[in-house]
Amino acid sequence: MPQRLHPDLDPLDQGFLEGVVTGEARLTAEQGLELYHRLPPQELGRWADLRCEALHGDSIRTYVIDRNINYTNVCTAKCIFCAFKRAGHEDDAYTLDYETLLQKIRELSDIGGTQILMQGGMNPDLEIEWYIELLQRIRTEFPHIHVHAFSPPEFVEFVNFFDPPGDDFKAKVRYVMKRLIDAGLHSLPGGGGEIFAPMVRSRIGMGKCDAESWLTVMRVAHELGMNTSATMMFGHIEGIADRIHHMDMVRNRQDDTIRELEDSGGGRYVAFISWPFQPDNTALGRLKEWGNGPGDDLADPYPGDVVAKVDGSGDKSAHPEFGRRLRLAGASAYLRTQALSRLYLDNIYSIGSSWVTMGPHVGQLGLRWGANDMGSVMMEENVVSSAGTTHCLNEPMLCRLIRDAGFMPAQRDNNYDLVKVHDGPDAPDLAVDNWADYRAEQLHVEQDTPCSGSGNGEQGEATVQLTIDR
Ligand code: SF4
Repeated sequence: MPQRLHPDLDPLDQGFLEGVVTGEARLTAEQGLELYHRLPPQELGRWADLRCEALHGDSIRTYVIDRNINYTNVCTAKCIFCAFKRAGHEDDAYTLDYETLLQKIRELSDIGGTQILMQGGMNPDLEIEWYIELLQRIRTEFPHIHVHAFSPPEFVEFVNFFDPPGDDFKAKVRYVMKRLIDAGLHSLPGGGGEIFAPMVRSRIGMGKCDAESWLTVMRVAHELGMNTSATMMFGHIEGIADRIHHMDMVRNRQDDTIRELEDSGGGRYVAFISWPFQPDNTALGRLKEWGNGPGDDLADPYPGDVVAKVDGSGDKSAHPEFGRRLRLAGASAYLRTQALSRLYLDNIYSIGSSWVTMGPHVGQLGLRWGANDMGSVMMEENVVSSAGTTHCLNEPMLCRLIRDAGFMPAQRDNNYDLVKVHDGPDAPDLAVDNWADYRAEQLHVEQDTPCSGSGNGEQGEATVQLTIDR
């Protein structure tokens, strides 16, 4: 393969960026950081759009119908960005019983859904047999439903809770994962990625696994033939270089995975989804935003940027306010970060737009900023809804957003194979007679019962039943 890294080139060089679009050139971490800071936002989006078009064509953009089921909110970790977890003694601590879980899947199946995204807190009271019986029951009653479940932090705690046989951590993960695959698990979601850089991760994710453990769980999944996704939650205390470092770790491991496992039927990361931190009801959200604290001067660099290094070696002693000031990400920061992920992650097939956290229209804009996929119709979600995010979309609305962005909407499955291309008059959005009534009803539902969801974090269970059968 010809040399694709050109570290001496200016990343704003037109010819170099054209090479990134075609896949003939690859950004270094330093070039990625320069692009983020020096390229005007709309230019960054344009190059990401071109890269997306080179990979996915210019006609179809996809979504999936799944249900985000958060089976328990009891968790041993103390992530300070999380409004969902409970210790177990509170009145609203819960673990769903099998019948409730199966009923949720039944409702999904009834509307043509193809998969569940099932994640929870790390609940020490649940034995491995509980998970095995649950998966077996799902497989028996819903053999057509893809079970996308249990993020890496859950697997790390499965090893701690179940004490499985194995000489090392990786062998123990493999033992547990094989038993769950045998019972009906199909693939792993990428929840709990957050930010890999140790200075940031140890500050915001107390009790949650480190980056190496997260990546090891995913490697085992790939060795066992499963495809997975990777995620990033940004817009809190991290620097921009931390985001690049996070993407770089994913890209490097994906290189290894493709090189070592491609010929033996291994899996890989098929999607990357990033979204901004949602601050409401969280300890992290109570930090002052940069610029509002005593002595803050917006003319100075943000503390996270002073500390962050693209190789992950940031040292918090570099700035006394590191970890004490937030820099929340708005629409512009979100779109720029997503665009950079499309350009940087040249070995990952899909980039997902996070309409759940950013709202439908920023999510729609994301389809022109490097994303090829709008994620999921949201039946329910409880995690980012706990943190104050309240966007809901049903299938017609999701299809209309995609079509209004200039693309043909298509339902996909978990492997990104197309289930239905909506090119006829019976398309979910084209069959709607009166959008005014339709939207009013949805708004009323949202106001009555707050709902949202990332469809990608291991955050919580949602509360709204949408009228998605219209
Ligand atoms: S983010 Fe996940 S692991 Fe962390 S406290 Fe919340 S439920 Fe637990």
